[in-house]
Amino acid sequence: MTQVGDGNLEHRVPEKRADEFRDLAEAFNDMVTRISKAMHAREQLLLDVSHELRSPLTRLKIGLEMLPEGTKKESLREDIIEMEKMITDILEASRMRHHAGSLNIQDVDLGKLIEELIPDFKDLPPGIVIKGELTENRVAADYEKAGIALRNIMDNALKYSQKSEQPVEVTLVSKPGCIEVVVRDHGIGIPAEDQPYIFEPFYRADKSRTRETGGYGLGLSMCKTIMVAHGGQIELNSTLNQGTTVTLAFPTDT
Ligand code: ADP
Repeated sequence: MTQVGDGNLEHRVPEKRADEFRDLAEAFNDMVTRISKAMHAREQLLLDVSHELRSPLTRLKIGLEMLPEGTKKESLREDIIEMEKMITDILEASRMRHHAGSLNIQDVDLGKLIEELIPDFKDLPPGIVIKGELTENRVAADYEKAGIALRNIMDNALKYSQKSEQPVEVTLVSKPGCIEVVVRDHGIGIPAEDQPYIFEPFYRADKSRTRETGGYGLGLSMCKTIMVAHGGQIELNSTLNQGTTVTLAFPTDT
């Protein structure tokens, strides 16, 4: 039941016993099946709508180019670009959810991966600093997907701490059984009441942040999918107006 509570809707509790606990287990499993079906139906609808919206959006874009230049045209163009980005994100996140299970596992040096990602963020305030050494830290991981997860977390850390004086800190910690990448920012933080839902698709802590930061609440749910597929973990600790720390734990044999 804990597994189901953690979001694994494929899990079923054993129905072996021959007493009222068996009835309870059956009822529980039926309920999980129904929730799982409802969630799939919801996702399918979202995907269908997103696919369907692509052609009219393309037509709108072509139509827009026929209009004379002006401020209205510019703002319409911005709206269309935003809609296109949203649709691309929805379709991409879904593709990731369905293919996260099929990982292309390689020998990945997490230190090197972080080093490769950092230059992409170099001009963004308040910057990223590496704390400690990025020594060789090898894990069995999908290089591309681990990179997507790390990039998302670093991107969020910068996005939500633009006005902070202190840079984002990235630390690599080797522990028994796992290697952790810890990304800490000193930004706006997340209200405590939002934190339990933060890994759900489309959940945003503050709806008014959307325009400013351009996200749709898909990043963290995608990171969680990727980490779970690796047999790893993602953890978020945050204090409003003080900052957020996200820990990605990649499992190791030792
Ligand atoms: P988005 O694309 O909206 O950033 P995410 O799934 O990556 O979507 O994050 C979900 C929400 O969690 C964000 O909308 C934001 O409110 C909050 N959030 C994520 N990371 C941070 C962070 N480092 N600091 C503050 N808030 C964050």
